[in-house]
Amino acid sequence: MGDLSVQRLTKTFSTEGGSLEILRDVELQMNRGDSLAITGPSGSGKSTLLYILGTLDRPTSGNVRIQGQDPFTLTPEPLALFRNRHVGFVFQDHHLLPQCNVLENVLIPALAGSGAGAVEEERARKLLDRVGMGSRLTHRPAQLSGGERQRVALCRALINQPLLLLADEPTGNLDQVTAESVGKLLLELNQELQTLLIVVTHSLDLAGKFPRRVELKQGALVERA
Ligand code: ADP
Ligand code: MG
Repeated sequence: MGDLSVQRLTKTFSTEGGSLEILRDVELQMNRGDSLAITGPSGSGKSTLLYILGTLDRPTSGNVRIQGQDPFTLTPEPLALFRNRHVGFVFQDHHLLPQCNVLENVLIPALAGSGAGAVEEERARKLLDRVGMGSRLTHRPAQLSGGERQRVALCRALINQPLLLLADEPTGNLDQVTAESVGKLLLELNQELQTLLIVVTHSLDLAGKFPRRVELKQGALVERA
């Protein structure tokens, strides 16, 4: 079994108009250091799948194991801790807190565990150095460009050294040149830190940089050349 194992995953939303089957039969096996790009038309369920893998939403049926553990057997508090420890998210919008500076923003997920001490702060500085933001530690998000904010958001996602790095349209709001550099950074950091990277994207340019690509089609993942 892989570090991430998904078997026969389904997700159905019940709405006023009846039930909406979004994921029908998702199978996925991945290990540390692997990366995957998921493409598919708008509304095909890409975000839904990513949120379930990140334990922010629950499957209707099927099996999800992250390092052998089924997170959905946990009660809400242990589940939140599990997520904080094992999952890092990057969204289309950076979601940085405007009143906090760069260093503080990166340290936010570290506050939930045993607290952000010297070790976490050193890790944050190293990550920010790595993405070229080491000289911007005391700047606030409003003082940064879109690409710089996404690089800070990437450091925040990595501060707890998660197994899973999940990114939902991470370059969707960026111009092409900036998008390319953020995409490259995601893949480089995935290798350096041996996370398991899954990126949802509309961009065939970004998807094309990934060694493994799948398309979400009629509720299932289909491998692409
Ligand atoms: P994608 O990210 O591929 O664009 P989503 O995963 O956001 O697609 O959504 C897939 C489908 O599921 C859409 O038709 C959307 O309207 C529907 N959907 C998502 N969340 C809910 C919800 N909480 N309740 C009902 N329908 C939902
Ligand atoms: Mg989406």
